[in-house]
Amino acid sequence: MERESRQYRGPDDQRIRRVLCITAHPDDAEFFCGGTLLLLTRAGAKVDLVVVTSGDKGAREPDLDGPTLAMRREHEQLAAGRILGLSRVEFLRHPDAGLIESLELRGELVREIRRSRPDLLITFDPTPQYRQHPDHRVVGRMALDAAWPCARDRLTHPDAGPPHETPEAWLFGAPADRIDLTVDVSGVLEEKIRARLEHRSQTRDADQMRQRWQEVAGMERFVRVDLRT
Ligand SMILES: [Zn+2]
Repeated sequence: MERESRQYRGPDDQRIRRVLCITAHPDDAEFFCGGTLLLLTRAGAKVDLVVVTSGDKGAREPDLDGPTLAMRREHEQLAAGRILGLSRVEFLRHPDAGLIESLELRGELVREIRRSRPDLLITFDPTPQYRQHPDHRVVGRMALDAAWPCARDRLTHPDAGPPHETPEAWLFGAPADRIDLTVDVSGVLEEKIRARLEHRSQTRDADQMRQRWQEVAGMERFVRVDLRT
């Protein structure tokens, strides 16, 4: 019971002042937790976003090269971030669909955590089901490993800034039986959809998406992980 009561109850919890969201691709944040990020920034929290790849492999047009696509997607992510009220958007520019677990990536995420010093980390559940985008699995695992214990421990990645203990993580994309936080984002659904639609290079039919999201995107679901010592 003690363990339960010290966890955050939702985005309106006033103990959450700083948030770091770590995703794999431009549009992951809007897809999985855009409404929650909006509720957090509206409640006055400072929310940063780190995007590990710039989505350089998803070209449909035959004459579009990876670097051009990545630049376009970064601009789209920045525009979406402005709608969400994000304070900082950082691109680590690892290759799309090419992420592997590495000390290098873990060190970069430790640096970002120590820079943002979040009360709350939001990222992927790395163990949802057998089928998962490999980049999502790697980012979820690496972000959690970076938060606990690596960013907390002074002697781990000592060149990546002063240590920081992140109290809690919320993981999206989790299986239904593990979800213990459901956030009603219907009050900010229009802005959430608007932010998602900034990702024009990843949108085939904006009207169809808007219509579908008005039906299905009003709730966001997480599993909360207590990282406190
Ligand atoms: Zn993704």
